[in-house]
Amino acid sequence: MVFYSLLFIFMVTAPLGASGLAAGNAACANLTEFLTSSKINSDKLSPQYLETQEDYWNAVQSSYVPSCVVYPTSAQDVSVALQGIRAAGSRFAIKAGGHNPNTFFSSVDAGVLIDLGSMTSMLYNEDTTLATYEPGSLFGDLYDYYAKFNRTVVGARLAGVGTGLALGGGLSFLSPQYGMACDSFRELEVVLPSGEIVTASNTTNPDLFFAMRGGGGNAYGVVTKYTVQSRPIGEFYAGNVIYLFNQTTAVSEAIQNFIQYNEDPKASIIGTYEMLPTPSFGLDLDRAVIMFLVYDGPDAGDAFKNFTDIPNLFNSLGIKTYPEVVNMPIPMSTELSRGDNIFRVGVHRIGDDSYQTALDNWYTWAEDNKGSYSLSSIDFQPIPKSLTDASKAQGGNAMEMPDGPWYWVNYLISTPSSLSQQDYDEAQAKFRDMVKKTANAEGLPLFINDANYDQNPLSTFSTYSKLQEIKKKYDPDNFFANYTGGWSFD
Ligand SMILES: Cc1cc2nc3c(=O)[nH]c(=O)nc-3n(C[C@H](O)[C@H](O)[C@H](O)COP(=O)(O)OP(=O)(O)OC[C@H]3O[C@@H](n4cnc5c(N)ncnc54)[C@H](O)[C@@H]3O)c2cc1C
Repeated sequence: MVFYSLLFIFMVTAPLGASGLAAGNAACANLTEFLTSSKINSDKLSPQYLETQEDYWNAVQSSYVPSCVVYPTSAQDVSVALQGIRAAGSRFAIKAGGHNPNTFFSSVDAGVLIDLGSMTSMLYNEDTTLATYEPGSLFGDLYDYYAKFNRTVVGARLAGVGTGLALGGGLSFLSPQYGMACDSFRELEVVLPSGEIVTASNTTNPDLFFAMRGGGGNAYGVVTKYTVQSRPIGEFYAGNVIYLFNQTTAVSEAIQNFIQYNEDPKASIIGTYEMLPTPSFGLDLDRAVIMFLVYDGPDAGDAFKNFTDIPNLFNSLGIKTYPEVVNMPIPMSTELSRGDNIFRVGVHRIGDDSYQTALDNWYTWAEDNKGSYSLSSIDFQPIPKSLTDASKAQGGNAMEMPDGPWYWVNYLISTPSSLSQQDYDEAQAKFRDMVKKTANAEGLPLFINDANYDQNPLSTFSTYSKLQEIKKKYDPDNFFANYTGGWSFD
């Protein structure tokens, strides 16, 4: 593919051996020539630049200083941006909602940051029931818009997360009914690493379409438009139930029971155990178990009885709209939980002792390492058979998810910003070693959206060699592989 050569010849190339800073500046100079001034900002003190730089869920990434930020409003702008960056040999990053905690996945130091936040158009076609949206909105904005038609798109369980979620699969409260967010993709507009703008669907570039359904963002190109199957929504019965830690055994049993036996695809849960750094004083006030219980419909029947039968501290179950569901437990929870945050992931089958082992390993680590985190949690996320069936019925995704039930575990460490680099590295190493102590199930994919970059999640996919081939085809000279962060294909 030589598409990029057209613009490329007019552009500045950084001197051979130039530093990252010089290459970043050369790329910004190129783009200033080719984009109108409202679409590029190199003023590091301007409110627009600062807002982009600060808006990362992992606050560590806000310390990076992009040479300039590009705000495309169309696929053509993204194409020009990629060609200018390529010509200058600069590093870059593509940012949607900024929630991926891995550094340099959607952040860049001395390079070009492509902030998709100005691409916010969204449409609903009442005849086809397809929804089309650009990548710059948060899922909460999309839910608010589609709710006007009594429809929604399959996406994040918290309103504040961005559309990059769906490129990593995307686990929703609606997934047990409709599959992962990416399973609802019907057509994508993609700017390839060459700058060429193409369509990806089951019939056009089907290999690219396959890879972009859960095979990760910033690897094969930039999605500038999503056309997805929308879903009907009405009233939900949903809420959080919070338990003191002395109910852990009963709640853990209820969660495992739900993972193994629940067959109602309208019922969805997340089981989360939270730990604060404060001393316990034997009163268990430093920890709690928080359930997210969501039923698509006003009457959940007995779906959550095992949870509501256990004595609890707080229960907010009741009738809710979908926008209210994704703002549980409180609105703005993604914004409020911003900090020095890192995720790790595990994947396990039900029926062995992995649930208890993972919980015990986390709990022991959390007790032994007070002071090295400001918050830590372990979340259990069921993958029922109805979800994997719904995925298969729509053609399957890049994970080719084996039949449920099984579950993903999300681990969070939030570290105090006062930690020295050495203490930070030590805290992260201990956290990594704790997660590794619980062996993952063979033959199941690690969830990209919850993974740390060093966990190499793609290598756990049964489709890995196919994805490697697709990556080679669409990024033939390793432009993305070498100049932006992302998952390893090696
Ligand atoms: C508070 C919180 C709640 C979460 N809840 C869920 C959940 O319910 N379900 C779930 O599955 N995951 C969840 N996640 C994980 C989340 O899906 C990932 O962090 C995801 O990467 C976030 O997407 P983003 O657009 O916000 O982030 P970004 O960091 O902007 O993007 C993520 C990655 O995708 C790339 N990317 C983004 N857009 C494009 C594009 N258009 N084209 C090409 N590449 C692109 C970026 O370069 C980056 O590498 C949650 C994360 C947080 C922090």
